Amino acid sequence: MFLITCPVTRSDHLVSLTSIRSVINHPTHIAVHVECPDCGALHEHRTGRKYLAARRAEELVAA
Ligand SMILES: [Zn+2]
Repeated sequence: MFLITCPVTRSDHLVSLTSIRSVINHPTHIAVHVECPDCGALHEHRTGRKYLAARRAEELVAA
């Protein structure tokens, strides 16, 4: 189980690993495509050390 935020409804949902449709390793991030239990759409969630570090840096600049 892991937590996703639906970009359509902005609500959080616990989803099982069976909801993952694909995992694609990119140079800058890992794209995980998950079937949303809320709206039924396929959402891409980006993760990975490089991606999360870049996001934290963006948040610090914006603060
Ligand atoms: Zn959704």
